[in-house]
Amino acid sequence: MFSQRKTMKFTANYWNNIRRMKREIETADAIVIGAGAGLSTAAGFTYSGERFEKYFSDFIQKYGFSDMYSGGFFPFETPEEHWAYWSRYIYINRYMDVDNGTYQRLFGLVKDKDYFVLTTNVDHQFQKVGFDKHRLFYTQGDYGLFQCSELCCQKTFDNEGIIRKIYNEQNNMPDHTHEYLYFPATKFL
Ligand SMILES: [Zn+2]
Repeated sequence: MFSQRKTMKFTANYWNNIRRMKREIETADAIVIGAGAGLSTAAGFTYSGERFEKYFSDFIQKYGFSDMYSGGFFPFETPEEHWAYWSRYIYINRYMDVDNGTYQRLFGLVKDKDYFVLTTNVDHQFQKVGFDKHRLFYTQGDYGLFQCSELCCQKTFDNEGIIRKIYNEQNNMPDHTHEYLYFPATKFL
């Protein structure tokens, strides 16, 4: 058990920091937000545990993955398995509505300010709640965009239609063989 005194002291420091932050936000000429994975975790985008087990139980059973992120690096033998994995990954983290209000509250704090966001997050949450795309630098891309596999051009391609289609049409994971293939996503790519 922690003593009451220590908890209150810590809480007081914590609230002082929040008050200071509030004052800085209110008086700043411009605000630059740096956002990493922790912000999306706080918003409900957890990559392990219940959410992972719900959507990836077949992959967990077959490959022993412990979380969504590390499974994404697995060198799947077939493009069908690769895209079965990635279509789910993209669908639940980009197209499903998960945010518990965290991004909306952040937007509420800065929307009338001269703000800019630098982020490694690729789940599109800033734009979903209204952040101006021209005030965002998402340095690692966006789950919702495909790019040319030959890298011959700078173009990106909206992937919502195809990701929803692959997500909906894939079949159950086979236990011991690759013969039973997933929906052949590659024909679209
Ligand atoms: Zn190209």
